Amino acid sequence: MIGVTLSDDVRTALVVCAHPDDVDFGAAGTVATWTAAGIAVSYCLVTSGEASGDGSHTADEVAAIRQAEQWSAAAAVGVADLYFLGYPDGAVEPTLALRRDITRVIRKVRPDRVLTWSPEINWSHVPTAHPDHRATGAATFAAVYPDARNPHAHPELLRDEGLEPWSVPELWIADAPKHLREHAVDITDQFDRRMAALGAHVSQVGENPDLAERMRGHFADTAARYGLPRGRLAEEFQIVDTR
Ligand SMILES: [Zn+2]
Repeated sequence: MIGVTLSDDVRTALVVCAHPDDVDFGAAGTVATWTAAGIAVSYCLVTSGEASGDGSHTADEVAAIRQAEQWSAAAAVGVADLYFLGYPDGAVEPTLALRRDITRVIRKVRPDRVLTWSPEINWSHVPTAHPDHRATGAATFAAVYPDARNPHAHPELLRDEGLEPWSVPELWIADAPKHLREHAVDITDQFDRRMAALGAHVSQVGENPDLAERMRGHFADTAARYGLPRGRLAEEFQIVDTR
């Protein structure tokens, strides 16, 4: 299965990830194809990535730097609507409070498609199976089904904030275990934009001169596995029908 969209009528998409840079490592080429096709994309960041760096900055300083980097990265692929939830980096759990906070963003954005990270461990590539990523994936799944569509879930959202239930029909999952991935997005024409987005995370990838070529090789391998012509690049996902 290859293509930009499954449904022709997707107008709004929401990406929910644990850390600044997750979307730009894993899915920014796909996001760029969506915005190029006229889809309005929003990002929801569960943490601000403050559990990183060499210790020369305070956690608040790191969070501010990484939020600013994420705003720049988002702009590089046509995204200008970001929500930072402020959960502690390195300690994300799929709690009811996190489900409520993601549900709030879903009900505000009212997306036709949500993209998040797999709640499952991909044993063949451990770094992407960070516990924060998996907790974010589990909480986002619960927010998509059933919380956001159920008026009895987190009733304060409707009662106090007027946020009506919203049903998300399609869930895209990044970094799923290999056997669950079945959809590739051709990102060749968006590769430069997606690398500009990743490069905006200066505190994370600043001294990494081989990064673009390594990423190109990785996406070329993915494209080849899906039978795309030589020279094409692709990102791949698991897609779940959540209607
Ligand atoms: Zn991460």
